Formats: sequence, structure tokens, C-alpha cells
Amino acid sequence: MVDQLLTHFNLCENRRMTERDIPNSTKPKPNRSRSAWHFLPPLPVQVSPYFNWPPDITSILKWMVSGWFPVSERLIILFLAIGCSFFFQPSLETSQQLAPTWVAGLLLRNIALMSLVAGGLHWYFYVARKQGDERRYDARPFATNSRLFTFGSQVRDNMFWTLVSGVTVWTAYEALMLWSLANGYAPQLSMPEQWLWLVVLIFLLPMWETSHFFLIHRLIHTSKIYQRVHALHHRNTNVGPWSGMSMHPLEHLIYLSTVLIHFVIPSTPMLVAFHLMYFTLSAATTHSGYQGIIIGGKLILPLGTYHHQLHHRYVTCNYGGLEIPWDEWTGSFHNGTDEAHKAFLAKRKGKAGA
Ligand SMILES: [Zn+2]
Ligand SMILES: [Zn+2]
Repeated sequence: MVDQLLTHFNLCENRRMTERDIPNSTKPKPNRSRSAWHFLPPLPVQVSPYFNWPPDITSILKWMVSGWFPVSERLIILFLAIGCSFFFQPSLETSQQLAPTWVAGLLLRNIALMSLVAGGLHWYFYVARKQGDERRYDARPFATNSRLFTFGSQVRDNMFWTLVSGVTVWTAYEALMLWSLANGYAPQLSMPEQWLWLVVLIFLLPMWETSHFFLIHRLIHTSKIYQRVHALHHRNTNVGPWSGMSMHPLEHLIYLSTVLIHFVIPSTPMLVAFHLMYFTLSAATTHSGYQGIIIGGKLILPLGTYHHQLHHRYVTCNYGGLEIPWDEWTGSFHNGTDEAHKAFLAKRKGKAGA
């Protein structure tokens, strides 16, 4: 068994396999020896191969394609954004005047989207228990009677901050951007002539997300802002779909400020919708607490990210994502292995001593 696992890890390292490639029979079994986790994904956690030297084009292409196809949260969110841009987004003509009616329509749409994604995943994994604890990183139950959480319950607390603050700020940013596009305050891609630019920008969004998230996340981990703002998100040492957007209103404002880049980079109403949906809905999926949806023992739809689960447990590591390896470059990357954990603990002890 040990040999089998070593072979598997070596394969991952050498070929940079994605989790979907790994035969089920060689997938790591739930690890109880390091009692910290119920399930461990293939380790070490892999960052994108974009910056490897010498460049390995095959690995890069494989990483790019597997991030979107055959099915991914990104692709699903993109289809949702395209659908919404046709049926549930005001025209630019309407958006020229800020009016409560269309802004309220956007708010209702966003409440429905967040409830569909976060609520749907919560129901699937934690109410209907469709997967039991298979591929669940941390099998501890959510708090139901704790003074730490608003209303004493982790799930109710998370739903409250997500729906009341998160969706409101999301809607406000979308309304601002649509109004700005409609009035020429923000540059617009002319469609269909510039369709290729639209495709490129959609494709670059995950890289931008990693960079923006790393920068603002690192900022709100500075002690004063952490205590007053970000600690609310970190009430969740174990996470579920509603935890992703459970943040202090000020953090929502900072986190979703990402979309303001479209005051410089040209966009379309659909791209604005996709940009914001990518940041909000994928926060729900990446915090799902499960590696993904398993059908017939196979990982069909990757969801929860182990490196961010490590961030919630240990706080001072993994501030960013995997597309652009900012954590590796700045020394805060925890790749999930025992060696990385020992190094992390030694560093933390050193800092505490200092
Ligand atoms: Zn988080
Ligand atoms: Zn954090």
C-alpha cells in the first residue's frame, strides 16, 4: 500500500497529473494517522506550471484545459453568466438611469443564484448527505450552539453574512458597473467585432482572481484589520458552502472591488456579471468542504480546495490560490505534506518567539 501511494505521488510530481487523472484504486484513502484530516487529496498540492523553468508546454496546456473542461465550476458559472446576461440583466439603455426597480431585480437574481449554488451544495452534502463523508476534508460537524457565531449557529451565521451583506455588495458593484458602461464612464468591448478579446479576458480571469485575492487577503491579515474585519470569515475553522462569502461588509467591499478593474480593462455586461459571479459563487464552491462531487467513485466536479482549507485551519499560510503561485514566491505556501507542516509550525514558533 505504501509503495502504491509513493508511486502515485511520484506520478503526480513527474507528470503533474490532475486529480481527475488518478485511478481510483491508487487514490489516497482517508488519512487518520495525522488525525487532523478526514481526507487528504493527492499531495503535495500542485501550483500551476506557468512559471516552471524550463517551460513545459504540455503541462501548461494540460493545466489550462483541465481548469475548464470537461466540466468545472468555472464553466458552469460562465454559462450562468451568459444566461443571465440574456434574461436577467437590464439592458444598457435601462442601466443609463439608476433606478430601484432594475437594481432590485438584480438583487433578487443574485439572492437566487447564491441560494441555488451555496444552498444547493449545502443540501447535497450536509442535509441529504448524498456523499456521506466521502472526500470530505474535515468531518467535524458545524457548530450549532456557539457564542462565536451570529445566532449561535455556524450555518445561520454564514447565511446571514452571505445574503444580507455579500449579495448586497455584489449587486451594488454590478449596478455601478452597468451604469458606468451605459454612460461611457467605463470602456466597453464592441461586440461581436472584439469577441476574441472577450474570450481572452474570460480566460485570464482566474489568474487575475488569484492575484487580487492574494493581495487583498494579505492586507486584511494585518493585525488590526484582521481583528476587526477578517476574523468574521475565520470564525469558520471548518468550512461549508455558506462560509465562502461569509465576510464582514468591509471585506465584501474590498474583495469585490476586483470588478473595478473594468474602469480600465474594457468589458461587456456579460463579462461584468461573470467576473462578479466568479468571485461570489466560486467562493461557495471552493469552501464546500469536499474535494468535489463523486459519481461512481470518480471525481466528476472538483469543488473544495484543500490549500484554502489549510488556510482556515492554520490561518497564516496559503493566502492566495494556485494559478499564480504568490504564496510560493512569498514563503507562505503550505503544500499539505508532513514536511511542509513541520516547516510551517517551526516558522510560526519562531515568529511567536520573536
Ligand atoms: Zn475562506
Ligand atoms: Zn484569511
